[in-house]
Amino acid sequence: MTDAIRGHLAALRKDPAAAEFSELELAHSIRHRLEAEFSLGPVPVFNATGIVIHTNLGRAPLAPEAQDAVAQTILDYTNLEMDLESGTRSSRNIHISSLLKEVTGAEAGIALNNCAGAVLATLAALAHDGSAIASRGELVEIGGGFRMPDVIRQSGARLVEVGTTNRTRIADYEAAIDDQTRVLLKTHTSNFRMIGFTEAPDLRDLARLGRQRSIPVIEDLGGGSLIDLSAFGLPHEPTVRSSLEAGADLVLFSGDKLMGGPQAGLIVGRRRWIDQIANHPLSRALRMDKLSLAALTATLRLYLQPNVETKIPVLRMLTQPIETIARRADRLAEAIGEGPGFTRSVIASDSFAGGGAMPMRPLPSRAVCLLSRDMSATAMLHRLRTGNQPVIGRIEEESVLLDVRTLRDDDVASVAEAVQRALA
Ligand SMILES: *Cc1c(COP(=O)(O)O)cnc(C)c1O
Repeated sequence: MTDAIRGHLAALRKDPAAAEFSELELAHSIRHRLEAEFSLGPVPVFNATGIVIHTNLGRAPLAPEAQDAVAQTILDYTNLEMDLESGTRSSRNIHISSLLKEVTGAEAGIALNNCAGAVLATLAALAHDGSAIASRGELVEIGGGFRMPDVIRQSGARLVEVGTTNRTRIADYEAAIDDQTRVLLKTHTSNFRMIGFTEAPDLRDLARLGRQRSIPVIEDLGGGSLIDLSAFGLPHEPTVRSSLEAGADLVLFSGDKLMGGPQAGLIVGRRRWIDQIANHPLSRALRMDKLSLAALTATLRLYLQPNVETKIPVLRMLTQPIETIARRADRLAEAIGEGPGFTRSVIASDSFAGGGAMPMRPLPSRAVCLLSRDMSATAMLHRLRTGNQPVIGRIEEESVLLDVRTLRDDDVASVAEAVQRALA
């Protein structure tokens, strides 16, 4: 504390604008500095952006069942890698493989640290001594510097690009296959859409070609939903099961996107290839930790129950009826109340799935719209973000919008309080 105070005073002495200040102001600013320095995150925030899978806000919030599983694992020893029957060493993957089989219909499955790691380990295990064929229309950048061509290069595989930016046909893959070809790679173009004169081969056709030439077909689904979201009026996203049924030998997807679990990279498909990946040193280097593994098994178990869309927070937020959202917005506006110098109203807004899923499809939602007489929208947003209980909203047309799709009913009172404090 002494260091922090000395540092603060030294900075004030050098700052000509700080020539005059009261003792109280000095105490306040030192307190701010100390708080900033010692409040190490991550801390909980209210997500009022309406973006359900928000990477900057930690992607998927977990189900209470996952929380319980982590809590049980955290203080005690566990049989993470011990077979209790024989007392011998087993694999941490045991806990997950049969669940993955059950939920996706795959022959086998494995979980690694995240999907980017899963892509890397898969290509390293299957294609390091040869080439991977990929469409020029699918050499995507996912974000955070994850670029498909770079990851392929890192795995040791040679990238063979086929087709053009907008059109790739099955014949392009066929013509490119030679005795060096180890995998045919298909990547879900999660975060963008190409429209107009475009063509991409059907996964079925690619799988048929792979079978004819005995080359495994890998699909990196990224978001990878385990249930068909179109049943709830949402845009169609390929499911992991449908990709396997279409003939993909391996399907890769994230645990903390549409699946709604902890960070993980799931690989499901043919046992032969899964074993090869599991035995590769990168799978050891990228293995999941025990806490995430506990949360993952608990989340997957929910998929074996009916009405999973009401049990997994991500799915609940995506599938909740607009009436529920509208009621929550009204309650929040009500709780914020009238105030001097600002108005609040409920308006229609667009929320998004996020996490690279359904990028072009806004989901109709409701937001509380805050307009202040004395404060700019940017200043309001900053105050909301930096309060005791940070609320993350967005700006639209000089007002602050708090989209309630991504809030819980239980959050309403606390968010209203945070708003009142920020506007006071
Ligand atoms: C998100 C995504 C990844 C990376 O997944 P992480 O779990 O964030 O590592 C890889 N491929 C695709 C297609 C994605 O959408």
